[in-house]
Amino acid sequence: MKRLSILGSTGSIGKNTLEVISSHPDRFGVAALAARNNIEELESQVRAFKPDVVAVLDESAARALRERGLPVDVLAGGQGIVEAAVLDSVDMVVSAIAGSAGLVPTHAAIQAGKDIALATKETLVMAGDIIMSEASEKGVSIIPVDSEHSAVFQCLDGRDMNEVERLVLTASGGAFLRSSISELESVTPSDALKHPNWDMGRKITVDSATLMNKGLEVIEACRLFNMPPEKVDVILHPQSIIHSMVEFIDGSIIAQMSVPDMKGPIAYALSYPGRLGGVLPPLNLAGIGELTFEKPDRNKYPALSLTYEALRAGGTMPCVLNAANEIAVEAFLEERIPFTGITGVVSDTMAEHRSVKAGSIEEVLKVSEWAKRKAKEIIGIDVA
Ligand code: MG
Repeated sequence: MKRLSILGSTGSIGKNTLEVISSHPDRFGVAALAARNNIEELESQVRAFKPDVVAVLDESAARALRERGLPVDVLAGGQGIVEAAVLDSVDMVVSAIAGSAGLVPTHAAIQAGKDIALATKETLVMAGDIIMSEASEKGVSIIPVDSEHSAVFQCLDGRDMNEVERLVLTASGGAFLRSSISELESVTPSDALKHPNWDMGRKITVDSATLMNKGLEVIEACRLFNMPPEKVDVILHPQSIIHSMVEFIDGSIIAQMSVPDMKGPIAYALSYPGRLGGVLPPLNLAGIGELTFEKPDRNKYPALSLTYEALRAGGTMPCVLNAANEIAVEAFLEERIPFTGITGVVSDTMAEHRSVKAGSIEEVLKVSEWAKRKAKEIIGIDVA
């Protein structure tokens, strides 16, 4: 039985992971659960899955959970999350704490030799060089849960990387696929939060509408598969049925398709190299009828150009892009800046940064904090 530590168990990836586990109780057990502060959900997860420990990032929420007298050790704070990631009894860590908060425990898990099912792209965007080289040193597998990277991973399975011509990541185009550039200037947070195909958290849904999510995924793909940026392309595919593709040197393209449901990539990461039955309904291709593709308009989606710019600058620049974007999306959701202002904040923050090669996770976190402060300053949020 594979014993899992699920970091971010109350979020959408975490809940889907627990669904996959509960349909295969003979294959998987839960050693640890960790979440930010949603103790209602955590309590019911503890009762259903009986982990050895549970960790709560928010210290007062951790105290409140302890008072409920559950039959489980309750750890608190960032250190508690790290402990939940490195427990002896854990075989694999599902890394699904969004944003920069997921980086430290994921890094600790790799150092402890745990295999990683990686659902948060920030870890590789912020610190891809460090994470990938430490993973290979420790003999740790990093298996992608992001649907696009899972697709590429499945298409590549066992093939010679020298035969790969390029990776093609698909993008749904998000909520504003059919909106004009001028219409984008007045869209509201609630407009942006309507994603046509995927049910996800707020931040990532806004990132899907700007295509910054795809930009972060391009960076993630370069790190994960050791590909140069010019060999990773993005194509719009509004149906979200092909989750990504690999083009080989002989002109063949292999694509991975399924119903758009995160349980697919989650199950593959948990069971790799095998596959689990009963996870997704079969894909009804005749019912879907047609699959279409479009080239993304770089003027409408400046996030894509910023991404390649950050990759060319290398070093800490992708980390700065990610941090500035976190702040800009938050500011948009609070209606401080317009939707079209998001990428402007990112680009202005990048312009203030001189990229360096970070030698440690601490350095990466410092650069990230700097970029967040700078982005707030650019937006006009008081940082005192
Ligand atoms: Mg994705």
